[in-house]
Amino acid sequence: MTARPHPNRTPAVADGTYLFQTLNGTYRAGNLLDAFWMGAAVCIGTAVLHPSVPKLAERAPAATPDANPARLAVLTLAATVAPLTTLGLYLRHADPQVPVASITCTAIFLLVIGRMAGLVSAQRHTAVTDELTGLRTRRAFQTALARTARPGARIGVLLIDIDHFKRVNDTLGHHGGDVVLAEVAGRLRALSRPGDLVARYGGEEFAVLLPGAGPDDLAAVAERFRAGVGGARIGLPDGGAITVTISIGGAGMVTTAHELMLSADRALYASKDAGRDRYTAADLVGAAGR
Ligand code: GH3
Ligand code: MG
Ligand code: MG
Repeated sequence: MTARPHPNRTPAVADGTYLFQTLNGTYRAGNLLDAFWMGAAVCIGTAVLHPSVPKLAERAPAATPDANPARLAVLTLAATVAPLTTLGLYLRHADPQVPVASITCTAIFLLVIGRMAGLVSAQRHTAVTDELTGLRTRRAFQTALARTARPGARIGVLLIDIDHFKRVNDTLGHHGGDVVLAEVAGRLRALSRPGDLVARYGGEEFAVLLPGAGPDDLAAVAERFRAGVGGARIGLPDGGAITVTISIGGAGMVTTAHELMLSADRALYASKDAGRDRYTAADLVGAAGR
């Protein structure tokens, strides 16, 4: 195997040498270094012939930017330390070009970082928000549950499924179904307590995380949801209206987050089996539950 110069490193070597030669006054236009740069251009041109080049145009998997406020603060500090230090030095020795360069550099860095912070925050919001309903996503719910579900913690979960939703879609079409889904989601959010997390858990299934909730709280919140969703007709874009009901299963902290969700799911299906439009607590579901 022969060692070949990496196309990206060749110009870096030439640039480094150029800086070195400039600093010690040995650089002359047309010396051997220029051949190096020409060689770099040839390397870069040749690299485009590599069979893997079409892959460069392929879309990379979407990733949440790995930047949190602390990292952005460190980046801000790192980016502004040089211009601000230069400004400090100027204030001691007075060089008229320095304040302009320092202030401009600092302003540009701060603008770029401010823009990045905005983009990161927008992307974080998109990653945890369900597009149709505006509720949290299933993943955001699971993250919050994993964070809250510590041994001995008092925590409740409600799983909610719209009854006979296929019929709603069959009657109103998928778009009409979406309108109903969004309205049910809005009602659940409006009826939830501050601090509780309401998420779209699946197609027409919702999950609510209620930190600190005991069995009585769960039953009370579930009843509020049930009455609030099923008790008022939902207006449709064509002027009509429809009533939908929900079935709910609830569970308090069992042993693990996974167990908790399984118990709530069993309780939800016990509500379905018992005729829908009702709440069932997991501790009332026999071992024979689904
Ligand atoms: P059940 O009372 O047993 O829950 O009956 P169901 O008809 O609601 O049954 P199920 O919960 O299995 O049906 C879910 C339906 O929800 C099937 C699917 O077409 C519909 N659905 C899932 N996601 C969406 C969505 O984003 N928009 C619309 N309009 N419909 C959806
Ligand atoms: Mg359903
Ligand atoms: Mg369902």
